[in-house]
Amino acid sequence: MHDALAGRSLTHTDFRVPQLATTDLTGREVSEVVSHGKHMLTRVRGDLTVHTHFEMDGSWHLYRPGTRWTGGPAWQVRIVLANDDWQAVGYRMPVVELLPTAEEHRIIGHIGPDLLGEWDHDEALRRLRSKPAREIGPALLDQRNLAGIGNLYKAETLFLSGVTPWTRVGDIDDLDAVVRRARKLMQANKNHWQQTTTGSLRPGADHWVFERSGRPCRRCGTRVASAVQPEPGRERYERISYWCAQCQAGPGP
Ligand SMILES: [Zn+2]
Repeated sequence: MHDALAGRSLTHTDFRVPQLATTDLTGREVSEVVSHGKHMLTRVRGDLTVHTHFEMDGSWHLYRPGTRWTGGPAWQVRIVLANDDWQAVGYRMPVVELLPTAEEHRIIGHIGPDLLGEWDHDEALRRLRSKPAREIGPALLDQRNLAGIGNLYKAETLFLSGVTPWTRVGDIDDLDAVVRRARKLMQANKNHWQQTTTGSLRPGADHWVFERSGRPCRRCGTRVASAVQPEPGRERYERISYWCAQCQAGPGP
């Protein structure tokens, strides 16, 4: 996104959300595009930032003018930012808003170190360890601790680390290694569309436990377990956890 848009003027913009329906940034130059976790900030000269958030299903696609858009049906397009050479199309974005660049801290100020951005390993560990009684599954998903881990990388990191998602943060011997593993998995996948944690890009062979509920563990053959893992006060963020009770030590639901 940064390579395609930064340093160039927008020649066409289309905000397909009601509150920005009349917004037009044509003629303005994009200064940079940065990400913080699932937040994407497209900074436009004149103290303006286009903020989008991916949530579960959103995505940005880049197309050359004249090529077909393939990111989904047209009604799922929320925003288009284009220059002479590129069209950036945002699909299924639950958040599309415009704000002064100087006020970005309102959105990202609380977010922890970004596994794919400016990374501060010790700070991420400090934030995680500040709540030792918390279960590691939800703690890894909490963007206030560290930004970027979704449910897939949570499940796979914990499988490879040999601890269940219900293990308390304070009970994990080598939390440092857990965080390093999460970052390594994400870094390994950042330049391609598929997300593999096993090293295989073959569909069905690309994950250890994520979305493999009831199927045999690739290491020991035990059926992969799954359960919703809620957390008091954060029900909105509740996700399904997947794990192998044989390969991963610690409590279950
Ligand atoms: Zn197993």
